[in-house]
Amino acid sequence: MTASTRHEAVRNIAHEAVIEPENMTEEPNNAHIPEYFGKYVFNDRTQKQRLSAPIYEALRKVIDTGAPLTAEIADSVAGAMKDWAIENGATHYTHWFQPMTGSTAEKHDSFIKPTGDGGALLEFSGTQLFQGEPDASSFPSGGLRATFEARGYTAWDPTSPAFLRCTPEGATLTIPTAFCSWTGAALDKKTPLLRSNQALSKAATRLLQMIGENQVTRASSSGGIEQEYFLIDADFFNLRPDLLACGRTLFGARPYKGQEFDDHYFGNIPSRVLRFMHDLEHELWLLGIPAKTRHNEVAPSQFELAPVYMPISISTDHNMLTMAMLEEIAERHGFAALLHEKPFAGLNGSGKHLNWSVADNLGSNLFDPGKTPHENLKFILFLTAVARGVDLHQDLLRSSIASAANDYRLGANEAPPAIISIFLGTHLEGIVDSIIAGDIPDGSTSEPLRLGVTSLPELPRDISDRNRTSPLAFTGNRFEFRAVGSNQSPAYPATFLNTILAESLDYLSDTIEAIGGPSTENIQRVVRETLSKHRRILFSGDNYAAEWRVEAAKRGLLELKGTPEALKPLRDPKNEELFNKMGVFTAEELESRWHVQTEIYTNKINVEAMATRDLAMTMLLPAAMEHQKRLADSINALQAVVGEEGTSSQRETLALVTKTIGDLKNSVDALLEVNERWESDSDDVAAQAMGYRNEVLPAMEQVRDAADFLERLVDDSLWPLPKYREMMFIR
Ligand code: ADP
Ligand code: MG
Repeated sequence: MTASTRHEAVRNIAHEAVIEPENMTEEPNNAHIPEYFGKYVFNDRTQKQRLSAPIYEALRKVIDTGAPLTAEIADSVAGAMKDWAIENGATHYTHWFQPMTGSTAEKHDSFIKPTGDGGALLEFSGTQLFQGEPDASSFPSGGLRATFEARGYTAWDPTSPAFLRCTPEGATLTIPTAFCSWTGAALDKKTPLLRSNQALSKAATRLLQMIGENQVTRASSSGGIEQEYFLIDADFFNLRPDLLACGRTLFGARPYKGQEFDDHYFGNIPSRVLRFMHDLEHELWLLGIPAKTRHNEVAPSQFELAPVYMPISISTDHNMLTMAMLEEIAERHGFAALLHEKPFAGLNGSGKHLNWSVADNLGSNLFDPGKTPHENLKFILFLTAVARGVDLHQDLLRSSIASAANDYRLGANEAPPAIISIFLGTHLEGIVDSIIAGDIPDGSTSEPLRLGVTSLPELPRDISDRNRTSPLAFTGNRFEFRAVGSNQSPAYPATFLNTILAESLDYLSDTIEAIGGPSTENIQRVVRETLSKHRRILFSGDNYAAEWRVEAAKRGLLELKGTPEALKPLRDPKNEELFNKMGVFTAEELESRWHVQTEIYTNKINVEAMATRDLAMTMLLPAAMEHQKRLADSINALQAVVGEEGTSSQRETLALVTKTIGDLKNSVDALLEVNERWESDSDDVAAQAMGYRNEVLPAMEQVRDAADFLERLVDDSLWPLPKYREMMFIR
C-alpha cells in the first residue's frame, strides 16, 4: 500500500457514482410495497394462511401467553414453514442466536435427506425447528459450561417469526432462537430478555389488577430502535487496516472542516447515499422490518435509520438484522458501513436510541399519561416505578451499555455522560413536585392533587422540550435510552430496564398492600414517599455541562466512567439478588456476563494496541523517514548553492520531523512495554482490564498524537492512510 493507492482511491470515487447496484434481490416496485412487505417472513399473516385453524390458534396462544409448545404444534408448524421456505427458494435452515459476544451466530443445515436409493428428500421436522445443537464450545460462556460439557443447544423462540435470508443463488430459513447450556443456563442475550419481559408482565399485571384493571392479564415491553452509522467509500475502508481490524481509525489528523458548521445534520442526503438507502429499505421491508425514518446525522457522512416500534424481542432481532443488512447493502454500493461507536476521533460518535414502553394486553400504553384520572393514575404509578428502579439501579443501566467502544463516546460532549439520570421535562417534573409536596399543580383545579380522583394537567407534547443530552428521556409516551452504543445488541439495555421496572412495580404493590390496600389515600402516600425518596434521579437540565457532574456528585449519583468500573456492578450482591428474585439471571449467569464482557474489553484494546504498533512501524514511520530523507537530500543540494546559512529554515523543518519521528518510535516502545506487561498478567481479569484502561489506552494515545502530528508534516504524496478529510467529504 502506498500513497499512490490512496490517491487512486480518491480518483475512483468519481466513477463510483455511476456503478449500478447489482444483485438486487428483487426489482423495486414501490407501488407494491404493501404486497411485498414481509414477503420473506413467516409472519402472522402467512401462519394464518398456511396452518390449520386449530394449530394456528394453538401457536398464537404459545406466542401471546407463553402456553407450552407441544410436539404436535411444532411438527405442524415445521411442515408449513418448510413448504413456504422451499417455495421461496430455501435450501437450508439455521438456528439464529445471539451469543454473549454481542453479534449473532448461525450454523446452516440443508433440508436434504438421502432416501437410500441414491436420491434425496427435503425434510424439516418439529424437532429440528424446536431444538438445534450448534457446536457451541467456542462461544464465550464465562465459565458457565465446563469443558467436558461443552455443548449448548438452541431453542426456537416462537415470539419472533422465522424469516428467509435470500441470495440470488438460494435462501436460508432463519429461525430466531435462544441459546442455553444443557443445564438450562442462558448462554445468550435473548433468553434473559424473554425472562425479563415475563417478570415485567407478572409485576405489571399484579399492580394493574390491584387498582381495578381486572381485564389485564399480561403486559409486555416494546422497542423502537434508532440506529446511527457512518458510510465511507469502500476503497478508503480497504486501505485502512485499523478500520478493518478494529472498526475505528487509530490514526488521523482532524480535518480542516469537521462538524463545526452543523451543516450536515438533517441536511440534503447525497444521491449516492440515497440510492443505498432505498436499496436497504427495500431489503428491510421484504424482511418485515418497518424502516420508517432516515436522515443525516451530526457528523459528516453519518446517518440514522429508525423503524416503527415493535414488541421488544422482535425489535431486538430486527435491529441485529438491520445491522447485518447495513453492512451487506453498503458493500453492494461500494460503501463500507461503520457501526462502531467512535470510528473517528474528534467527530460525533454513533449511538442507538432505545425507545422503550410497556403496554398491557388491552393495548393501553402504561407510559401514556392519558386524559382521565384513572389513566393518569396508572401513568404516575409506572412513572414512579421507573424513577425508583433507575435511581436504585443506576449502576446496572450503566453496565448495560458498557463497552470499550462506547467509552470513547460517553460523556464526550456528544453523548450522555456516564451519569444516569432521567429527563421528564420541566412540566412533568413540576407535576412530580406537586405530588411530592401534596400541592395544587399548575393549570389544575383548586383542589390538591389526588391521584385517581383529580385529572393531571395536560402535558405538552412539544418536541422542543425534548432533551437530547439526557441518557434516559421521557418523550411523551415512552422513555428513550440514549446512551446505548451503536454497535451493541439492544437486548441487555432492554433486559435491565424491564427487570428494574418489574422489581419496582412489585415494590409498589407490596407497599400498598402492607399499609392496607389500594385506597386513594394509600396509593397517594406510597407514590409520594417513593417519588420524594428518588427525586434526585430526575434532571431536566444540560447533561453535557460541567456543573451537572458537580451537582450529580452532590446528589450522590454514580459516575462510572470506564467499562471496567461500569461492569463491576454485575458482581454486586444487591444486583445478584435483584436478578435472581426477578428470575432473569442466576448468580452464575450474571457472573459469567461480567467475565465475558471484561475479557472482551481487554481483548478489544489489546487488538487496538497491536494494530497501533503495526501501523505506526510499518506504514507511518517509513513514510515519515522517506520524507525525512528527501528533506535531508534537498538540504544538501541546496547547501551547495546557498551555503549552510541559507538553509536554516529547511533545517528547522527537518529537525521537527526528526524529533517527531523520535517521539513516534519512543511512544511505540512504551506502548509495547505496557501492553506486554498487562497481556501476560491474565490471572486477575479485573485488574488486567483496569491496566488496559489506565495504562495501555493512554500509551496508545501517545502514539496517535505523534503520528497525527507527522501527518501534518509529511509530504501528502507519501502518506499511506486515507485522511479524514478524504474519507469524510468525498462521496
Ligand atoms: P427522535 O429521533 O426524535 O428520537 P424518531 O422518530 O427518529 O425520533 O424515532 C422515534 C422512535 O420511537 C421510532 O422508532 C418510533 O417507532 C419509536 N416509538 C414511538 N412510540 C413508541 C412507543 N410507544 N414505544 C416504543 N417506541 C416508540
Ligand atoms: Mg432519538
